[in-house]
Amino acid sequence: MDMMTMNLTKFQEIQGKIKTVLLPIGMIEAHGPHCALGTDVLIPREFVRRLESEIGDQVLMAPEVTYGHSWGLAPFSGTIDISSEAFSQYVFEICKGFYQQGFEHIILFNGHGGNISSLDIVTEKLADLGVSTLTINWFIDYREDIKQIAPEPGHAGEDETSLILAINQNYAFTDGVGSHEIPIQKRFRVKDGGKILYPEGFSGNAGAASVEKGEQLFQMMIQLVRKDLDKFWNLVNK
Ligand SMILES: [Zn+2]
Repeated sequence: MDMMTMNLTKFQEIQGKIKTVLLPIGMIEAHGPHCALGTDVLIPREFVRRLESEIGDQVLMAPEVTYGHSWGLAPFSGTIDISSEAFSQYVFEICKGFYQQGFEHIILFNGHGGNISSLDIVTEKLADLGVSTLTINWFIDYREDIKQIAPEPGHAGEDETSLILAINQNYAFTDGVGSHEIPIQKRFRVKDGGKILYPEGFSGNAGAASVEKGEQLFQMMIQLVRKDLDKFWNLVNK
Protein backbone atom coordinates (compact mmCIF):
# COMPACT_ATOMS: atom_id res chain seq x y z
CA MET A 1 0.00 0.00 0.00
CA ASP A 2 1.44 3.33 -1.10
CA MET A 3 0.55 6.15 1.27
CA MET A 4 1.74 8.89 -1.09
CA THR A 5 -0.99 8.15 -3.64
CA MET A 6 -3.66 6.76 -1.30
CA ASN A 7 -6.90 8.60 -0.53
CA LEU A 8 -8.45 8.99 2.92
CA THR A 9 -11.17 6.38 2.28
CA LYS A 10 -8.58 3.73 1.45
CA PHE A 11 -6.32 4.79 4.32
CA GLN A 12 -9.15 4.36 6.82
CA GLU A 13 -9.85 0.88 5.43
CA ILE A 14 -6.32 -0.31 6.21
CA GLN A 15 -5.95 1.53 9.53
CA GLY A 16 -5.97 -1.05 12.31
CA LYS A 17 -5.56 -3.90 9.80
CA ILE A 18 -2.05 -3.15 8.54
CA LYS A 19 0.27 -2.54 11.51
CA THR A 20 3.66 -2.17 9.82
CA VAL A 21 5.09 0.93 8.13
CA LEU A 22 8.12 0.84 5.82
CA LEU A 23 9.83 4.22 6.12
CA PRO A 24 12.72 4.96 3.73
CA ILE A 25 15.28 7.32 5.27
CA GLY A 26 17.97 8.98 3.18
CA MET A 27 20.20 11.95 2.62
CA ILE A 28 21.04 14.49 -0.06
CA GLU A 29 24.82 14.30 -0.23
CA ALA A 30 27.89 14.27 -2.46
CA HIS A 31 28.37 10.73 -3.82
CA GLY A 32 31.63 11.04 -5.71
CA PRO A 33 31.70 12.78 -9.06
CA HIS A 34 29.57 9.99 -10.52
CA CYS A 35 26.46 9.12 -8.44
CA ALA A 36 23.21 11.02 -7.98
CA LEU A 37 23.14 13.36 -4.96
CA GLY A 38 19.95 11.55 -3.94
CA THR A 39 21.57 8.11 -3.96
CA ASP A 40 20.81 7.49 -0.28
CA VAL A 41 17.13 8.28 -0.88
CA LEU A 42 16.78 6.46 -4.20
CA ILE A 43 18.14 3.13 -2.89
CA PRO A 44 15.93 2.78 0.23
CA ARG A 45 12.95 3.97 -1.82
CA GLU A 46 13.61 1.24 -4.39
CA PHE A 47 13.97 -1.42 -1.67
CA VAL A 48 10.67 -0.35 -0.15
CA ARG A 49 8.97 -0.21 -3.56
CA ARG A 50 10.10 -3.77 -4.35
CA LEU A 51 9.03 -5.01 -0.91
CA GLU A 52 5.65 -3.35 -1.38
CA SER A 53 5.15 -5.16 -4.68
CA GLU A 54 5.75 -8.52 -2.91
CA ILE A 55 4.09 -8.03 0.48
CA GLY A 56 1.99 -4.91 -0.06
CA ASP A 57 -0.99 -6.43 1.75
CA GLN A 58 1.03 -6.48 5.00
CA VAL A 59 2.84 -3.14 4.93
CA LEU A 60 2.25 0.56 4.38
CA MET A 61 4.89 2.18 2.18
CA ALA A 62 5.43 5.63 3.71
CA PRO A 63 6.84 8.65 1.86
CA GLU A 64 10.57 8.93 2.51
CA VAL A 65 12.57 11.19 4.82
CA THR A 66 14.74 12.91 2.22
CA TYR A 67 17.25 14.94 4.26
CA GLY A 68 19.51 13.50 6.96
CA HIS A 69 22.63 14.12 8.96
CA SER A 70 26.12 14.03 7.41
CA TRP A 71 28.89 15.46 9.51
CA GLY A 72 31.48 13.61 7.44
CA LEU A 73 30.58 14.87 3.99
CA ALA A 74 29.20 18.27 5.02
CA PRO A 75 32.25 20.10 3.52
CA PHE A 76 31.36 18.83 0.03
CA SER A 77 29.24 20.61 -2.58
CA GLY A 78 25.82 19.04 -2.84
CA THR A 79 25.55 17.94 0.80
CA ILE A 80 22.64 19.44 2.76
CA ASP A 81 23.48 18.58 6.36
CA ILE A 82 20.74 18.65 9.01
CA SER A 83 21.95 18.65 12.62
CA SER A 84 21.64 15.36 14.45
CA GLU A 85 19.30 17.01 16.98
CA ALA A 86 16.88 18.38 14.35
CA PHE A 87 16.96 15.20 12.27
CA SER A 88 16.36 12.96 15.30
CA GLN A 89 13.44 15.05 16.50
CA TYR A 90 11.90 15.11 13.00
CA VAL A 91 12.14 11.33 12.51
CA PHE A 92 10.85 10.72 16.05
CA GLU A 93 7.77 12.84 15.44
CA ILE A 94 7.07 11.19 12.06
CA CYS A 95 7.18 7.75 13.71
CA LYS A 96 5.10 8.95 16.68
CA GLY A 97 2.53 10.20 14.17
CA PHE A 98 2.24 6.76 12.58
CA TYR A 99 1.93 5.15 16.01
CA GLN A 100 -0.90 7.49 16.93
CA GLN A 101 -2.63 6.45 13.69
CA GLY A 102 -2.53 2.77 14.67
CA PHE A 103 0.79 1.57 13.21
CA GLU A 104 2.74 -0.17 15.98
CA HIS A 105 5.62 -1.54 13.94
CA ILE A 106 7.98 0.66 11.94
CA ILE A 107 10.80 -0.50 9.68
CA LEU A 108 13.30 2.32 9.26
CA PHE A 109 14.96 1.56 5.95
CA ASN A 110 18.11 3.67 6.16
CA GLY A 111 20.35 4.44 3.19
CA HIS A 112 22.94 6.66 4.88
CA GLY A 113 25.71 5.91 7.39
CA GLY A 114 25.68 9.38 8.95
CA ASN A 115 22.08 8.81 10.13
CA ILE A 116 22.84 5.69 12.17
CA SER A 117 23.76 7.18 15.55
CA SER A 118 20.73 9.50 15.42
CA LEU A 119 18.38 6.65 14.52
CA ASP A 120 19.71 4.58 17.45
CA ILE A 121 18.60 7.33 19.84
CA VAL A 122 15.26 7.78 18.05
CA THR A 123 14.38 4.09 18.15
CA GLU A 124 15.19 3.81 21.87
CA LYS A 125 12.77 6.67 22.57
CA LEU A 126 10.16 5.07 20.31
CA ALA A 127 10.50 1.72 22.08
CA ASP A 128 9.83 3.43 25.43
CA LEU A 129 6.68 4.89 23.86
CA GLY A 130 5.49 1.42 22.77
CA VAL A 131 6.61 1.47 19.12
CA SER A 132 8.47 -1.61 17.86
CA THR A 133 11.08 -0.76 15.25
CA LEU A 134 13.60 -2.52 13.11
CA THR A 135 16.31 -0.37 11.55
CA ILE A 136 17.85 -1.79 8.40
CA ASN A 137 21.21 -0.29 7.44
CA TRP A 138 21.53 -2.40 4.28
CA PHE A 139 25.20 -1.46 3.55
CA ILE A 140 26.27 -2.74 7.00
CA ASP A 141 23.71 -5.44 7.80
CA TYR A 142 24.30 -7.36 4.55
CA ARG A 143 27.91 -6.34 3.90
CA GLU A 144 29.36 -9.85 3.79
CA ASP A 145 26.67 -10.98 1.31
CA ILE A 146 27.17 -7.78 -0.71
CA LYS A 147 30.89 -8.55 -1.11
CA GLN A 148 30.04 -11.82 -2.86
CA ILE A 149 28.60 -9.74 -5.72
CA ALA A 150 30.43 -6.40 -5.32
CA PRO A 151 33.79 -7.16 -3.65
CA GLU A 152 34.78 -3.51 -3.08
CA PRO A 153 31.80 -1.69 -1.58
CA GLY A 154 31.87 1.79 -0.09
CA HIS A 155 30.36 5.25 -0.13
CA ALA A 156 29.30 5.53 -3.78
CA GLY A 157 31.47 2.42 -4.20
CA GLU A 158 30.90 -0.73 -6.21
CA ASP A 159 27.68 -1.67 -4.37
CA GLU A 160 25.95 1.72 -4.21
CA THR A 161 26.89 2.67 -7.74
CA SER A 162 25.61 -0.67 -9.05
CA LEU A 163 22.31 -0.28 -7.19
CA ILE A 164 21.85 3.22 -8.59
CA LEU A 165 22.60 2.02 -12.11
CA ALA A 166 20.00 -0.73 -11.68
CA ILE A 167 17.43 1.92 -10.72
CA ASN A 168 18.27 4.14 -13.68
CA GLN A 169 21.36 4.06 -15.88
CA ASN A 170 21.27 7.85 -16.15
CA TYR A 171 21.71 8.33 -12.38
CA ALA A 172 25.42 7.34 -12.33
CA PHE A 173 28.45 6.80 -14.58
CA THR A 174 31.57 4.64 -14.13
CA ASP A 175 33.92 5.74 -16.94
CA GLY A 176 37.17 7.11 -15.51
CA VAL A 177 35.95 6.99 -11.91
CA GLY A 178 38.30 4.29 -10.59
CA SER A 179 38.53 3.34 -6.92
CA HIS A 180 39.51 4.83 -3.58
CA GLU A 181 40.41 3.15 -0.29
CA ILE A 182 39.73 5.01 2.99
CA PRO A 183 43.17 5.50 4.65
CA ILE A 184 41.95 4.76 8.21
CA GLN A 185 38.99 2.54 9.10
CA LYS A 186 38.37 3.97 12.57
CA ARG A 187 36.44 6.87 14.11
CA PHE A 188 38.57 9.74 12.71
CA ARG A 189 37.41 13.26 13.65
CA VAL A 190 39.23 16.41 12.55
CA LYS A 191 37.82 19.57 11.00
CA ASP A 192 36.71 18.80 7.43
CA GLY A 193 38.02 15.26 7.96
CA GLY A 194 35.71 13.96 5.23
CA LYS A 195 37.94 15.62 2.64
CA ILE A 196 40.91 13.62 3.96
CA LEU A 197 39.02 10.31 4.05
CA TYR A 198 37.16 10.85 0.77
CA PRO A 199 39.16 13.28 -1.41
CA GLU A 200 36.69 12.81 -4.27
CA GLY A 201 33.66 12.11 -2.12
CA PHE A 202 33.60 8.34 -2.55
CA SER A 203 35.23 5.07 -1.48
CA GLY A 204 35.39 1.54 -2.90
CA ASN A 205 35.75 0.45 -6.50
CA ALA A 206 33.10 2.52 -8.21
CA GLY A 207 34.59 1.81 -11.63
CA ALA A 208 33.64 -1.87 -11.29
CA ALA A 209 29.95 -1.13 -10.79
CA SER A 210 27.36 -2.39 -13.27
CA VAL A 211 23.62 -2.60 -13.85
CA GLU A 212 23.80 -6.41 -13.61
CA LYS A 213 25.51 -6.35 -10.21
CA GLY A 214 22.95 -3.83 -9.00
CA GLU A 215 20.04 -6.02 -10.02
CA GLN A 216 21.67 -9.07 -8.39
CA LEU A 217 22.24 -7.06 -5.19
CA PHE A 218 18.62 -5.93 -5.07
CA GLN A 219 17.29 -9.45 -5.60
CA MET A 220 19.65 -10.97 -3.02
CA MET A 221 18.98 -8.33 -0.37
CA ILE A 222 15.20 -8.32 -0.83
CA GLN A 223 15.22 -11.99 0.22
CA LEU A 224 17.42 -11.17 3.25
CA VAL A 225 15.18 -8.28 4.27
CA ARG A 226 12.09 -10.48 3.99
CA LYS A 227 13.71 -13.05 6.30
CA ASP A 228 14.55 -10.29 8.80
CA LEU A 229 10.99 -8.96 8.58
CA ASP A 230 9.62 -12.42 9.40
CA LYS A 231 11.97 -12.65 12.40
CA PHE A 232 10.89 -9.18 13.53
CA TRP A 233 7.19 -10.01 13.19
CA ASN A 234 7.68 -13.23 15.17
CA LEU A 235 9.40 -11.33 17.97
CA VAL A 236 6.73 -8.63 18.21
CA ASN A 237 3.81 -11.03 17.68
CA LYS A 238 2.40 -9.30 14.65
ZN1 LIG B 1 25.28 6.66 -0.04
